[in-house]
Order: sequence, then C-alpha cells, then structure tokens
Amino acid sequence: MTQTIFPQLDIPHTLAAGPGPGATDARVLQRFGAAGMADHMHPDVLRGMAECKHMLRAVMGTDNVHTFGVAGTGWSGLDCMMSAVMPGDTVVAFVNGTFSGIDGLTLRMKAATAEELAANSMDPQAASVTIVEIPHGQSVDGATVEAALAEHKPKWAFMAHWETGSGRVNDLRGFSDACARHGAMGLIDAVSSLGVENFAIDDYPGVAAWASCPQKGICCLPLTYAPVSFTDRYIDVLRATGARTFTHHPILEARHWGIVDGADVEKGTYHRTHSAYAVAAFHEALRLTLQETLAARAAAYAFHEAALREAVEALGCTVTSNMTSLVVLNLPADFAGREMELIQKCRAEGFGIWPTLSAPVQIRIGILNQLSREAVTDIVERFAAAMRDLGAGTDMDAVYGALSARYDEAIAAE
Ligand SMILES: *Cc1c(COP(=O)(O)O)cnc(C)c1O
Repeated sequence: MTQTIFPQLDIPHTLAAGPGPGATDARVLQRFGAAGMADHMHPDVLRGMAECKHMLRAVMGTDNVHTFGVAGTGWSGLDCMMSAVMPGDTVVAFVNGTFSGIDGLTLRMKAATAEELAANSMDPQAASVTIVEIPHGQSVDGATVEAALAEHKPKWAFMAHWETGSGRVNDLRGFSDACARHGAMGLIDAVSSLGVENFAIDDYPGVAAWASCPQKGICCLPLTYAPVSFTDRYIDVLRATGARTFTHHPILEARHWGIVDGADVEKGTYHRTHSAYAVAAFHEALRLTLQETLAARAAAYAFHEAALREAVEALGCTVTSNMTSLVVLNLPADFAGREMELIQKCRAEGFGIWPTLSAPVQIRIGILNQLSREAVTDIVERFAAAMRDLGAGTDMDAVYGALSARYDEAIAAE
C-alpha cells in the first residue's frame, strides 16, 4: 500500500447563488472561529445550547418544549422527525419535487415491513404508504390533501412546506386543516422556508412535527444544527410506540438541550458529543435572525426575489417557481437543452448556480443571504454574461430597466 499525503486543501470562495447552502453570515463564521476548545459538558456550552433552544422556539414560533437542534444537515433533522414512524404505519406523503421525493422514500423505508424492505431495500414499496405525486412545477394544494386524507385516513401525513427542487410553495394551511379534520399527524419538511418566510408553527395545529436545516434560511453552514420541533401529541405517540434509533430519538436527544420529562431543566445531560464551535455559530445565527426579525427578512426576500425574477424575465427566461429564496427558470426557447452547459460554465467560474436535480432540467438561482441591490445586480450580470457566451442576445437596457424599476421605485417610496 502506498501512502500519499496530499497538499493542504484550499477551497476557493464562490458566490453561493443556488438553492442552498446559502452564504454563511460573517458574524456566524466569526463566532465559529472565536469559540474556545471546550467539551460538550462545559457550563458555557450547555448554557449556549439552552439559550439556542429558547431562541429557536422564538424563531419557529412555538411553545413546543421539544424544540432543539439535531447535529448535521436537513436530512438529519428530517430523520429525527420521522423516527416515530414504525413498520406498518399508514402514511400519505405528497411529493412535488426532488426533496419531498426523498422524504417519501425515507417514509417508505421506515414504514415498510421487514419483508417489504428486504424485497427492495433501497427503494421499498410499502403497502401502508401512499405517495401522492404532484407534477414538477406545481404546488400541493389543500383540496388534494383533503381528498387524499379523507380517502386513506392515515396515521401520518407528510408534505414539504417549500419544495426546493421545483421552487414551489405548498399549501401549509390546507395541509394542517386537513390533518386536523382527519386525525392525521402532520409532518412538515420546513428545510427551505424556516428563516426565509415569516410564519409561526403553532398556527398550524394539524402538524405534529417539523424539521429544517442550518444552511438555508438560518445562514449557518459550518455543519451545525437542523432545527426540529415536536408537539406533545407526537411525543406521547413516540413514548408509547418507540423509535428504532438512539441518536435521533427525539426524547433522548432533547436531554442534552435541557429537556427532560417534557420540561425544561437547569442543565442538559449527556446524549452525544456537541461541538463548542457549532454551538457558538448556531447561537449567533439565531441571534442574527431574531435581531433582523422574521418579518423584515421575509419582506426582503420577497422584494429581492421579485427584482431577480423580473431581470431574468427581461433576459427572455421563463420563471416557474414561487418561492422567495430562489427562481427556477427555463432558458429562452432557442437555448432549451443547453441549461447544463450554461450552469457548468458558471460554476467553473465560481458562480454557484444549480440545475434541478430531477427532470425536467431547469436552472435554479438563489439569493440566500444576498439581500441587497448590489448582490442581486451582480448575480444578474453574471447570469447575463453566461447567456451571452451561449450566443444569446441580452438586452441589458431592459435588464437594468427591470432592476431600477424595483430598486429606484422603492427608494422613491421611502
Ligand atoms: C435542502 C433540502 C433538504 C436536504 O437538506 P440537506 O441539508 O442537504 O440534508 C431537504 N428538504 C428540502 C425541502 C430541502 O430544500
């Protein structure tokens, strides 16, 4: 066996202009780098975790005691959220893109019987799980949820709040109401919406559990915490039927955050090792979110997304998304089929835009933590230059006209 010691790894800075991860805030990176080496039972680390828990309840808009962070990324939080789903449980999942598709797969893995899992372990077909497919580019609406829950009366229902694959906002109110009407415990993937949209999870009583991620609306990539929140009803079901995991067991994992027997306690107890760096970064990201306020942030996303949308439309593109943290678009008809070529060229130049990850191929341009006229103009100019390289005629007067219509009018209105 030969041994190679590679040179020190240098990773360049890129403009993160995709669906995620977003540009981690400089304040967050500063706290990450400034944290001292302290173990996961150090009083200030435990205090930081307890403070995070309280701030997270404010960010999520909830009195749920079981609100905390799961170390890792969005899927880590989602795995924890789905941990109470047991083999044979009835589930209805609404799928309208890549991410809800993977959530549906996770639910089929958890609800499959041993025989069903063994028959096709990577993609089990669980008889107790109904996947309701909504075409790419469309939202899940309340009537669809109502009809499926009325028909199947499942124990669990699942939906993504914002489906980042197709850039679509789904009907959370309709989903929650239908869950409440039919006695289903709602599960929501809020990975893309938390920290971007202004909503309070306690306003949706049909939803029993929520999961999000660190690196999108919360602006905290340095692998920190995926926010999760569980109602008492979920915790009661979990306590009764259990979960086949230690690490992601919501009741056990909550202990380190100072949540024991359904109540806040003075001091967390050991569940797993926590990083002082991650705790410090997450703490700062939550402080930043609360200082900016969700209302102001949500308004800023809506405003800047509109500017980006109108500018790419002025370039002849068609936008099919309605989320406020990104646009999902088709190139002008003459350039259809050349999306990957354009994206790869942009990415090679450090301009990090993305394709859709499942068919059809579309371009996704995001504005996570890029909420300024300068940032959006930079994104638009880089995208226009890439279109020109492809041979497209770009009417920059129309593009700048669209941008100034948004931005100058806003200044005039002040
Ligand atoms: C990004 C995303 C995920 C996956 O999150 P990771 O952080 O990559 O684990 C899941 N669901 C939705 C809706 C997402 O946008």
